[in-house]
Amino acid sequence: MTDRKYELTANLAKVEERIAAACAAAGRKREEVTLIVVTKTYPASDVRILSGLGVRHVAENRDQDAAPKAAECADLPLNWHFVGQLQTNKVRSVVGYADVVQSVDRSRLVDALSREAVRAGREVGCLLQVALDAGASGRGERGGVAPGGIEELAALVAGAPGLRLDGLMTVAPLTGEYAGRQRMAFERLMDLSTDLRRTHPAANMVSAGMSADLEEAVAAGATHVRVGTAVLGVRPRLG
Ligand SMILES: *Cc1c(COP(=O)(O)O)cnc(C)c1O
Repeated sequence: MTDRKYELTANLAKVEERIAAACAAAGRKREEVTLIVVTKTYPASDVRILSGLGVRHVAENRDQDAAPKAAECADLPLNWHFVGQLQTNKVRSVVGYADVVQSVDRSRLVDALSREAVRAGREVGCLLQVALDAGASGRGERGGVAPGGIEELAALVAGAPGLRLDGLMTVAPLTGEYAGRQRMAFERLMDLSTDLRRTHPAANMVSAGMSADLEEAVAAGATHVRVGTAVLGVRPRLG
């Protein structure tokens, strides 16, 4: 076994243990939580190793890095999630490989995704990224729609050809009332998900929790956790 494969095997086992323990503590079944490994800034060779270790979901946040990586890994049985702020001029490229876009936060993006999905003959899953720290502008520091804008955006996605409304995503806020209170933030996201499912019962994905707070997310009821650092190591550059 190469050193890197050994390292990723050990890290993955530790993360798996954490998820299993968090599920047990919350009285949830392990199958209720899907691990998405965030491979941003790491090479396609790591993605290939992870696939060999049984990882089925990977996430990226920059199209420039993700597009060539996804192309290099096109032979692998992977679901690609896009989790970064998405400019409309990158949508055509992203739709070429992404199975799910988790950062849908505005109507112009919905229009662009729908147009390109139809053009490519693909169905793209969409999660609305919720900004729990949204200011008066109705948008978060790192993207995201304010809770009050979910219903309207959800209706838009649900009615858009080529798109499938899958649920909600959030990143625990660094500022505002939820700063340092991940559990509260994720519980708020769960409440918003409950509201959403009244009108869109199939939109039952709840993506929350990263390396530092996956336990809080599992406790709150998240269905998907997005883990980068704990599997791949501390990123060499900001990403
Ligand atoms: C980078 C990133 C993650 C993973 O963060 P880690 O702390 O490295 O686990 C999760 N979600 C999003 C949106 C990210 O950009």
